[in-house]
Amino acid sequence: MKTIGLLGGMSWESTALYYRWINEGVRERLGGLHSAQIALLSVDFQPIEELQHAGHWDEAGAALAEAARHVQAAGADFLLLCTNTMHKVAPQIEAAITIPFLHIADATAARIKQQGMHTIGLLGTKFTMQQPFYAGRLAEKHGLRVLVPPPDDQEIVHRVIYDELVLGVVREESREQFLRIMADLHARGAQGIIEGCTEIVMLVQQRHTAIPLFDTTAIHAQAAVEMALA
Ligand code: GLU
Repeated sequence: MKTIGLLGGMSWESTALYYRWINEGVRERLGGLHSAQIALLSVDFQPIEELQHAGHWDEAGAALAEAARHVQAAGADFLLLCTNTMHKVAPQIEAAITIPFLHIADATAARIKQQGMHTIGLLGTKFTMQQPFYAGRLAEKHGLRVLVPPPDDQEIVHRVIYDELVLGVVREESREQFLRIMADLHARGAQGIIEGCTEIVMLVQQRHTAIPLFDTTAIHAQAAVEMALA
């Protein structure tokens, strides 16, 4: 079994899900007392969040690149960055390590294409919904058509992520808003919805809607299990 490198803490609420789901995935595959070999480095999210909102991505990228080097030094055979948003600095991280980097958008696109879908809605932080590093990759590298909510709804999604979900707060009113925003994307032609922020699954799960959901946390964790056991 390979050692899975996790660069987490953004937020730790979703990193805890990665840790649980990766271990459960290995136990399901191997049985007995098997669990995953994991090298996890979890950063303090406050300074990262300040750099994001100040637009200082290079500085955030340098901090995460340094952290990624430590994960590799701890014995990781490949690396996952446990957040969609910080994939904006994925090139800086990849340049700092020599082990493979399992990109969250690639793992998610593979699952969407397995389901035969081509038009997909995307919810995430405003950075993820608005900037080319994520939707652009889905379109250019994977040939998907990506729909995002209108600006007012993007504000709602972004605010709920930073004011509630990364703090572990799950509110029924926010779930209703997310379900309405998802339904609007579906009405515009989205065949499914990417939960493109690793905390959204805390708020909306498949049992809440008939629209197919692509939970990036679960998909990324499952891809890690497959890679570790391949
Ligand atoms: N975990 C979130 C994501 O997947 C948002 C927190 C962050 O900005 O990293 O995008």
